[in-house]
Amino acid sequence: MISTRRPIQVLPEHLANKIAAGEVIQRPESVVKELLENSLDAGAKEITVVIEEGGKKLIQVVDDGSGMDEVDAANAFLRHSTSKIATYEDLEEIRTYGFRGEALASIAAVAQVTLKTRRSDDEVATVIQIDGGAEPRISKEGKEPGTSISVQNLFFNVPARRKFLKSDNAEFRHIYDVIQRAALSHPEIALQFVSNGEIILDVRPAGLQDRMVDIFGERQFGGMVWLEERSDPLSVHGYIGKPTFGQKTRLNQYLFLNRRYIVSRQISHAVFSAYEHLMIKGAFPFFLLFIDIDPRRVDVNVHPSKLEAKFDDEQNIYRFVSNLVRKCLSTNDLIPATSMDSTGLNNIGLLFTDRQHTPFLGGWGEGMADQAVRTFVDPATGEITGNHPAGGAQLAATLLASPESLEREFDQAARVEQQETQVSPNLESGMPIWHLHDKYILVPVREGVMVVDQHVAHERVLYERTVARFEASRPPAQQLLFPQTVQLSPADYSLFEELHTYFQQLGFEVKLFGKNTIVVEGAPPDVKSGNEVKIIEELLGAYKERQQHPGIDARDALAKMYSCKAAIKAGDKMNDQEMRALLGQLFETKMPYVCPHGRPVVLKVSIAELDRRFGRT
Ligand code: ADP
Ligand code: MG
Repeated sequence: MISTRRPIQVLPEHLANKIAAGEVIQRPESVVKELLENSLDAGAKEITVVIEEGGKKLIQVVDDGSGMDEVDAANAFLRHSTSKIATYEDLEEIRTYGFRGEALASIAAVAQVTLKTRRSDDEVATVIQIDGGAEPRISKEGKEPGTSISVQNLFFNVPARRKFLKSDNAEFRHIYDVIQRAALSHPEIALQFVSNGEIILDVRPAGLQDRMVDIFGERQFGGMVWLEERSDPLSVHGYIGKPTFGQKTRLNQYLFLNRRYIVSRQISHAVFSAYEHLMIKGAFPFFLLFIDIDPRRVDVNVHPSKLEAKFDDEQNIYRFVSNLVRKCLSTNDLIPATSMDSTGLNNIGLLFTDRQHTPFLGGWGEGMADQAVRTFVDPATGEITGNHPAGGAQLAATLLASPESLEREFDQAARVEQQETQVSPNLESGMPIWHLHDKYILVPVREGVMVVDQHVAHERVLYERTVARFEASRPPAQQLLFPQTVQLSPADYSLFEELHTYFQQLGFEVKLFGKNTIVVEGAPPDVKSGNEVKIIEELLGAYKERQQHPGIDARDALAKMYSCKAAIKAGDKMNDQEMRALLGQLFETKMPYVCPHGRPVVLKVSIAELDRRFGRT
């Protein structure tokens, strides 16, 4: 590339630092992270972070840690200068956040830095000023013990980098994330964060639980469950979200390896795998897990900003985490159905063998999901009928069978389904089922009893049916005997116009008459006759409310609202046949266990659990 080759030179330190800074310091967030880690390594009990203009103008970190004497303070800015490791053996067993000795050198190469530091034994503090890697100026000053570093005008001498920075707000958010992680991983430390003069976070020393509440709030904390498993050389503890508490983004996922925040696709996947089939598509579980492991068994020196780590035995950790999360979900009754036995409760290794897991949680729903959508409500009367599909009944019958025969029966059910034979006598007249308070359906299963919430169960059925309709776009409208003319408010009318095609896809046949008037001529067969107009109005109302939240998927939102509004309510009477029909249809859905809004549909109380509660074991 270069035509006239120059002789090789060792780059001057300030230039080498500037180049190295490109790796370590990518944005203001990186500066905050490095400085926070230094304060933590220095044993600080109280840390204050002050930023201005998203950290572009100023980042200042003040701690009450060990401080440095004058010699150390000057050396701290040299490249590869660190007090944390001395030999190769030390590198194999890192117990501090820093060890490369390049953060301060890098920061000082690309910003204007002032360090003030004092050990408690010293009279005065050492002050060091460095401008973009230039010669340091050293002076003395009075100051309480600890260290304060201020970093001004980051990248002032690297215009390309400075241009690359995002808006103040965006940079602020990155920094906030870093502070939040530090606050979560170090509840025993007081942390204050001030941005443009405003106190954003101010947390006192606490235990993990109180710190979680400080950061996430009571309400969100209420959706979390504690989990813990300690062993040598690996321990895991922390919180996971209840499946009903799914998040729309992956943002609420925290992994701390020996208290260092890391990102690990493998470990995250281990957590996800335990939630499989318990959450709606597109939702992610919350988790905050501390993994503590002998530092000799991990390598944290594999990523420029130490965001990743390499484990000696990744597979074992994967299994450990995934079993632990499963155990936690099942013992907290968060998994609606598991065939666990009394040993399974205490031994994570025994839970969820493939045999137990696959046919029940995965097999049925998925195997049957492609079947045609059926009518559950009598089109003529709008009443729920006993006309339940053969396949569903077969499947529900399978539910009453032993786990050993599950797979076989499943195959059979699928065959029966294909042949369009009649309803299985097993569920027709066989096992008893009970209606509880016109709200829940109780079904005995081999290992205990299953409790189904009739409203959310029907909601799930309707939702999947609606989504299928959207995809197939063949609205099965039921003609109204007497078309209904409705006068809407101008706002509702224009909203209806906007959503007209979706309503059509749902199965509503509605003519826009002009002058804010619509004529309802047909409705989906699930809608109870007489309720058509009411449901349209409720849908418009609910939609308006939801519209406040930007980024909603109109069609999916409508499908969910429709399913909720059209579903059987708690308190509605159901006869035996209707309940069996509902169960049959429920277990044909892709996700029988959570309603479209994430509420549980089915809970199982195992005999083992009952035995335990009655003190039989
Ligand atoms: P590293 O953290 O990898 O050792 P740094 O460049 O971040 O490298 O810091 C260099 C050295 O400066 C550290 O090893 C530590 O001895 C000292 N130091 C940095 N920040 C502080 C602080 N806040 N309090 C006390 N000592 C510090
Ligand atoms: Mg450091």
